[in-house]
Amino acid sequence: MKLPKIRELLEAIKAVIKGPYTSKFPKQPHKPHPNFRGQPKFDDQKCVGCLACEEICPAGAIAHKDIVNGKEGDAQRIMIHYTDTCIFCGQCQAACIADGEGIKLSNDWELSFFDRKEDSFETIKKELQLCEICGSLIACRDHFKWISQKLGELAYSNPTLYLSRLKSLGIIDENIISALKDQGRSDRVKILCARCRRETTLTTKQDASL
Ligand code: SF4
Ligand code: SF4
Repeated sequence: MKLPKIRELLEAIKAVIKGPYTSKFPKQPHKPHPNFRGQPKFDDQKCVGCLACEEICPAGAIAHKDIVNGKEGDAQRIMIHYTDTCIFCGQCQAACIADGEGIKLSNDWELSFFDRKEDSFETIKKELQLCEICGSLIACRDHFKWISQKLGELAYSNPTLYLSRLKSLGIIDENIISALKDQGRSDRVKILCARCRRETTLTTKQDASL
């Protein structure tokens, strides 16, 4: 007869004293190890909607949808995380420009669902900033805030950035927003896309209106 090895014997004795290693799930909820790599979750307060996580995701589990209907304040970016495609690699957290706080791996592992179409994804919404002349999408408002915080006082060399900053602080003076309607000099103190910024700065149209 083959005798059990000492290690196996010790394991068996430990199991008799301490109880089995396996949990009693589903009878009792299972508590994963603190370092368990579970479902990543967006934090809508920390995420700035930059899309770096979508770019880096090897499984294509992050996507976004921009809803722009032209009205100020109504434009939104919906960030989507697809649970059923995610491989829990953590690349999104590693690449997140918000110090890895915009999306973070959680301990959430119980991800079964009945309706794949309805329940296999999670979303957050971010406000978008549109160009105040042509209405085209520039970026998320929180992304502007993030850039101007990173640049510090250098942000005041860019009207789009400093106006976004003043708006976010709620201290913008509406009197400095356009008094003229015709791409004049006052259009330069608006939040603009690159094309409109170039046009209001370089064309002679505004010079004629002054
Ligand atoms: S954990 Fe990996 S696969 Fe899942 S969303 Fe993040 S980058 Fe994509
Ligand atoms: S802030 Fe982080 S979570 Fe949000 S879009 Fe950018 S990389 Fe993704």
